[in-house]
Amino acid sequence: MTAAALDLEALIAAAADTIAAHADELTALDQAIGDGDHGVNMKRGLEAVRAEAGQSSVKPLSDALKAIGTRLVMTVGGASGPLFGTLFMALGKELPGNPDRAAFVSAFGKAIEAVGARGKSQAGQKTMLDVLVPVQQALVSGKAGAEIVAVADAAAEATVPMKALRGRASFLGERSIGHMDPGARSTALLVRAVADHIGSIA
Ligand code: ADP
Ligand code: MG
Repeated sequence: MTAAALDLEALIAAAADTIAAHADELTALDQAIGDGDHGVNMKRGLEAVRAEAGQSSVKPLSDALKAIGTRLVMTVGGASGPLFGTLFMALGKELPGNPDRAAFVSAFGKAIEAVGARGKSQAGQKTMLDVLVPVQQALVSGKAGAEIVAVADAAAEATVPMKALRGRASFLGERSIGHMDPGARSTALLVRAVADHIGSIA
């Protein structure tokens, strides 16, 4: 499959627009339990990916995903840059040549494992993994579209009562409780952008 078949350029634009529209919200979340840079970090990264979207969209999908991951590592910064970068690089690496839905879901699962290995983290620690893992489980159970968006939003919401055990927010200990994890929120926003895009081209 090529990135063109997925209309990757439009998907990247939708993701970048969503992150730009919510950058202030992501900043506010990170101000509460981090250092306040998550909105700026994500916006910088997605705009860098957007700037290359024309080149990415004519590549085989796996190569395009690897290039996106590399760009995110180079531009997002913070803890989240290498982790989001790993997610996309690993997804590109794991995807077979002509992936069907099952192959996508399996590759996504392996990419999430790569994020956990990179971050020495797992679901339940108030991070992006608390959205990625339930979304993957929902995909495995056959959910799609609006159901996946609802799972992602609920999963981000479910980080509010959690105590952070990884990343900068963990320095706050109990004081991290009561705030949504910024990386969980940005992940849910990206999930929505992808699900809406796939719904629109299906
Ligand atoms: P930094 O914390 O370096 O300022 P960002 O603000 O861009 O970086 O990103 C913070 C987000 O990164 C957190 O909200 C969390 O979701 C995610 N994160 C941080 N550390 C880890 C980790 N070890 N594993 C998974 N996700 C993590
Ligand atoms: Mg931060």
